[in-house]
Parts: sequence; C-alpha cells; structure tokens
Amino acid sequence: MALLEGAEDAVAFASGMAAVSAVLLTLLQQGDHLLVARGLYGCSHSLVTEQLPRFGIEFTEVDFSQLDQVVEAIRPNTRLVLLETPVNPHLQVFDLDRIALLARQHELLSVVDNTFMTPLLQRPLSHGIDVVLHSATKYLNGHGDVIAGVVCGQAELMARLRGEIRKDFGAVLSPHDAWLILRGLKTLAVRLERHCANALAVAQFLQAHPGVERVFYPGLAGHAGSELIGQQMAAGGGVVALELKGDYADALAFADGLKLFTLAVSLGDAESLVQHPASMTHSPYEPEARRRAGISDTLVRLAIGLEHVDDLLADLAQALEPNRVSSGAPPAGEVR
Ligand SMILES: *Cc1c(COP(=O)(O)O)cnc(C)c1O
Repeated sequence: MALLEGAEDAVAFASGMAAVSAVLLTLLQQGDHLLVARGLYGCSHSLVTEQLPRFGIEFTEVDFSQLDQVVEAIRPNTRLVLLETPVNPHLQVFDLDRIALLARQHELLSVVDNTFMTPLLQRPLSHGIDVVLHSATKYLNGHGDVIAGVVCGQAELMARLRGEIRKDFGAVLSPHDAWLILRGLKTLAVRLERHCANALAVAQFLQAHPGVERVFYPGLAGHAGSELIGQQMAAGGGVVALELKGDYADALAFADGLKLFTLAVSLGDAESLVQHPASMTHSPYEPEARRRAGISDTLVRLAIGLEHVDDLLADLAQALEPNRVSSGAPPAGEVR
C-alpha cells in the first residue's frame, strides 16, 4: 500500500474506522480543533461529532470547494483537516492541490480518506496531502468479505501508529484478512477498470432516462469537479448517486425492484449494491435535517459491481418502469 500511494510507509488496521480513529487520536490533543468535510462517511462523522468532543477536541464542518470559507473557519487551535473526495451524498470532488497548499500555509495537517478512489485512481500524497487512509473493506479487498483499514504516510508517524497506537488501542488486522486483501490487490487494476466503465455507462443511461431527476457521478460532464478527472482522478470511480422523479415510496419501490443489485450500504464489491439513504443510512435524521444535509427522499446510491453492463442496464430499466408494482417487501434474505 505504501508503494501504491507513494508513501514512506503504511500500517494496517482491523477496520477502516480503526484507521480513521488511530490517525485522529494520534495527531490531535485535548484542546485542538479540526476542520472536516460535510458529508463524511457516517461513522467518521459521528467519531468527529460525538466521540472526539468528549476528549475536548472540537470540530467545524466546512465545504472544501469554498476555500475562503475554509480559511474563515480556521482558529488558533486548528490542527488538522479531514476530507474525502469524492464525498457523499452527491459525490462532490475537491481540489487536493489547493487544499494541501492551504493546509501548508496555515500549518495544518491534511488527511484524506481515499476509500472511494483507491491509489490507482487518485494519489493524494502526490498533491501534497500529509496522510492517506483507506477502508480496505471496499475496493482494496473487493469481495465484500473482509473488514480492514490502512494508513499511509511519513515513516515517523507510521512508526508511532504501528508501535504505540495500534498496540494500545488494539485494532490489529488478522493475518487471514491481511492475506485476503493482498489477494484482492492482485486484481485491483482490472476490477477498477470494470467498476469505472460500468459506472459511467450506468450514469449515462440514468441521465437519459425520463424517470430520473438528476444523476451525480464525477465522470459526467458538468458534474461539480469533473474538470479534475484526468488530473487529480484517473476516472470517476464506481459509485453513482441519483434522484428519482417521484417520492419516498417510489424510491423504495425502485430499490426493491432491482434484482441484480443487493440492498446494502457498502461499496467496492464484485456485486452491485443499492442503498436508499432516507430509509437506511440517514433514517435516524428528522426529515427536515435530512433535507438540510442534501439527502432528498428520492436519493438513491448505487455501488456498481463487476457484472456485465447489459445486465445492469436491463435491471435498472425494468426497475424504472412506470407503475411497476412493488411487493413492498425487501428482497428475500435482506434485513432493513
Ligand atoms: C466504509 C468506509 C469507512 C469505514 O470503513 P470500515 O472498514 O467499514 O470500518 C471509512 N471511510 C469511507 C469513505 C468508507 O466508505
């Protein structure tokens, strides 16, 4: 992973969240403040907003596409910025060169969660970012059967993570899971080619479909940040979000009507997955708070897998047919 990310060293953890928490608990002290991107992965969000404040670490959520607003949010005790790009829910892309430069100018450490891209599509360290981390649960492993995390960066920090933090907090990766990830990495390049090609085809198909209100995919022209494709990112990745025409019930019917896509919240698996944030990841939010967070009732996220693209498009087409009758029940074997 160090070689792939262009880092001096890398350390493995028992989960992506173990990697995120190890980095934040190593680099931050009581009394510090950090800036985080809006829309961060759910557990990273609650780590920053619920757990760290218990240890006297404050945060501000910012939009990293508005760098003047980011600068305004910097306080004397701000130490670090944490972001993902692309970021949920609309797969907004942030300019890593500009963010790394801003962080340097203000003596802040910069941390990027590169899970959605992998080092094959995006190498944040080469843009001046200090630390990169991954949930290896996703594309790096690639088969939806391992939970793991990785941190990449300077040797000194990695030695601390390896020798003290991981030991004391205990989130050690099991040897068997490490082996499964090494096996997954052998096919990462060919898998990503398929994920990206399928996702682009799906995004284009959805954009042209009368039942779809909006499509969010970094590889589509006109998407916020799509000009960074080819510079910062080699391709748009495997995740596509869409807003359907209709209402909450129509979005549920669409998700239930898909036959190839499994109803689940992960990404980076061989199988395509679908999730409806309003009824799944963001169901604890009040409807109004959900809307403020940009999660409409008809927002659906697709994590595109390795299936034949014709099968994916046919499945989407049948699920989008008007007046299709939903059973109302999740597919067999699924837990909501
Ligand atoms: C899944 C995910 C995580 C957390 O990873 P786990 O391995 O499930 O703990 C962190 N960041 C992003 C962007 C993720 O998608």
